[in-house]
Amino acid sequence: MKHVSVIGAGTMGNGIAHVFAMNDYAVNLIDVQQDALDRALATIGKNLDRMVAKEKITSDKKQETLNNITTFTDMAEGVKDADLVVEAATENMDLKLNIFRALDKAAPQKAILATNTSSISITAIASVTNRAEKVIGMHFMNPVPVMKLVEVIRGYATSDEVTTTIMSLSKNLSKVPVEVNDYPGFVANRILMPMINEAIYSLFEGVAGVEEIDTVMKLGMAHPMGPLQLADFIGLDVCLSILRVLHDGFGNPKYAPCPLLVNMVTAGKLGRKSGEGFYSYAHGGKELIVADTFKK
Ligand code: NAD
Repeated sequence: MKHVSVIGAGTMGNGIAHVFAMNDYAVNLIDVQQDALDRALATIGKNLDRMVAKEKITSDKKQETLNNITTFTDMAEGVKDADLVVEAATENMDLKLNIFRALDKAAPQKAILATNTSSISITAIASVTNRAEKVIGMHFMNPVPVMKLVEVIRGYATSDEVTTTIMSLSKNLSKVPVEVNDYPGFVANRILMPMINEAIYSLFEGVAGVEEIDTVMKLGMAHPMGPLQLADFIGLDVCLSILRVLHDGFGNPKYAPCPLLVNMVTAGKLGRKSGEGFYSYAHGGKELIVADTFKK
């Protein structure tokens, strides 16, 4: 396997392209927006510079990595020689189904089609293609160049051969793959999102404040980041949409999103990316400042 096409050049797509390119794969990075491609190349360059500064790679390696990446706005052109496609476009069911319908026509018949979705059913995505046995989840974690885990998700029809290939390919990227089956939230978000939701409920019900909740989980459970800070980092809209997938998928009220989370998303308080969530990021520094609404 030499040719990898990555669809979507956002937060995850640029990280995925970076990791494959650094491991000598020829990467076609595809996005509908030229802007996103330009930003992705700039981000990959900056992240590689940081690795050179820390003496993790040489500047020759940086250049080789960048040389391994070609950008495209035309998906059909960008996947026509692919051995593997990793889709990391916006988390939206209809959008992903359309991408996979088109991919099934444009990518070579032998190509494996993987998706980095956080919560959409792999089985549903596979069902719109004529190669369900070659469709699989490859769930990288953010930031991709740093985080070791790849959750490898088998859809209902994913073959053993394709699963084995993706497990060993993930190891080639110096990642640690974990195989899981395709049920709502897979493993990572099925466990993480109820914890985050419960932290938001604790705040909503006045059990404790933002800093207190995060401190309990950081110091008491040795989590590197409290659940409310982590929710801000992931994006509160993303957390809400994953909770809705769990709630719909299992039909169990224990996954119902906290009304405070729903209100915050409706008000446009999406966490770090919007400048405010449980904490305020308007100051631009690294210091954690509780948002005015939650100050005592
Ligand atoms: P993002 O919004 O940063 O980037 C998405 C990119 O997809 C954008 O640049 C957009 O222009 C592009 N895009 C939209 N439609 C497209 C199309 N038809 N063809 C090509 N490109 C298209 O999103 P992200 O945070 O990188 O998330 C991407 C995927 O990764 C989602 O499925 C998400 O659930 C998953 N994911 C995200 C995280 C995270 O922490 N952000 C972690 C794990 C998995």
